[in-house]
Amino acid sequence: MSAQPESVTTPARSWFDSEDAPGRRDLETCIHCGLCLTACPTYRELKIEPDSPRGRLYLMRGLNEGRIAPSDPLVEHLDNCLGCRACETVCPAGVPYGRLLEETRGQLDRRRATRETPMRALGRWTLRHVVPRRERMHVIADLLRLGQWSPIAALMRSDWARRLLPPFAIQGFAMTPPLEPRDARSLERVAPRLPAGARMEATEAALVFLPAGTAKTRVWFFTSCVMEVMFPRVNHEAVRLLVLAGCRVEVPRAQTCCGALHAHAGLRREARVLARTNVAAFADAGYDFVVHDSAGCGATLRECGHLLDDGPDAERAARFAAITRDLSQVLAAVGLPDAPASLRSPRDPSRPLRVAYHDPCHLAHGQGVRAEPRALLRRLPGADVVDLANADWCCGSAGVYNLTHPVMADAQLEKKLDTVERAAPDVVVASNPGCLLHMRRGAAARGLDVRMAHIAEVLGEAYPAPEMARAPAR
Ligand code: SF4
Ligand code: SF4
Repeated sequence: MSAQPESVTTPARSWFDSEDAPGRRDLETCIHCGLCLTACPTYRELKIEPDSPRGRLYLMRGLNEGRIAPSDPLVEHLDNCLGCRACETVCPAGVPYGRLLEETRGQLDRRRATRETPMRALGRWTLRHVVPRRERMHVIADLLRLGQWSPIAALMRSDWARRLLPPFAIQGFAMTPPLEPRDARSLERVAPRLPAGARMEATEAALVFLPAGTAKTRVWFFTSCVMEVMFPRVNHEAVRLLVLAGCRVEVPRAQTCCGALHAHAGLRREARVLARTNVAAFADAGYDFVVHDSAGCGATLRECGHLLDDGPDAERAARFAAITRDLSQVLAAVGLPDAPASLRSPRDPSRPLRVAYHDPCHLAHGQGVRAEPRALLRRLPGADVVDLANADWCCGSAGVYNLTHPVMADAQLEKKLDTVERAAPDVVVASNPGCLLHMRRGAAARGLDVRMAHIAEVLGEAYPAPEMARAPAR
């Protein structure tokens, strides 16, 4: 009897190696129903299967089963994905798409299956050598602040700069909010603005904020490297609101970047190192929650149980992930006192403030948080909360996607701004730095008279501290 052909007897070898590979069972969970197609922004735009969640899963499965090898088109279809995880929300089979995508990108990047470009190399270098180092992030912010000095800013907006600099540099500069001087970024600035009877203690290991009277709960605060340098006042307001709600808030100095951008870019080893550092920094079992005010960071912190599930930190990481919460969840659970100030429209102070809520993908799809922010806003005196159509559609920001894929990112942004224009709010609330930066740039370019704000800013205005009463941020 002749031997069977090798292709029949020998299963094809997976292209994935054994380090941190997408799980076969997870890949096979997809039942190909297609319910995710219309939820996917890239499929809605491009209308081709490989740019849908189902198509991308098919490509990952092909790699896993050894039927296909990485190629430029394959990498491009995976790179086109915004990582918004809208597909997970609608998937009846519970496919963990976000994790599978990150694991696949991790393999492609580590084994150099992606074509190297100067942009990719620069991005990787920045993620490895700048983002995880708090001091370096502050130096970059200092330099950018210098660049916001008007003669340099005018130069950056000139045709000359547009001709000489790569588009991502021009767009990145245009998106950067006015930066605070270094000392104004420090969380210690919260101390004089705490409610009566509350106080701050600074130790070598942490900043601790104690409420007036007995604390209702003990929470840790995750500062987030981007929030710390770009939106320090949001962090200040988040801590002040937690103290106002009766929380004892501890901010460990040993915490580091969440690793979200690393994980999305395929730098899984680096993301794991950062997760380990954070798990060690927040190791004390005496705390009820780890609170974050950045949706993208929070989603990654809540995934760190999976990142570290095969090592010695697995148990601590699982607990850390389990107690991580968005600011809105903790404020809603602990309860804020009744707000003393009534919010008014800046267009006509005799009218309430018209507020629309945009769901950041990594809050709505990544963490299932939708109700609490809306409930908190509805409770504010003088707030008229209006619906934004397709509030949980991605705005196109998606980490650094708006810099790497500006055309697709802007297509999503325009759709988002259409809905904003129809709802005509005074303020759009979004609790994610990327959404705020991206939507602010888009709204300014379109000439929309609307403010984009973090929920902590809007809540904080209803509980004014002396400086805020004088000059609300805009
Ligand atoms: S994460 Fe978003 S862009 Fe990517 S496949 Fe899912 S729905 Fe589409
Ligand atoms: S909705 Fe889920 S199961 Fe259905 S095709 Fe999409 S990923 Fe697969």
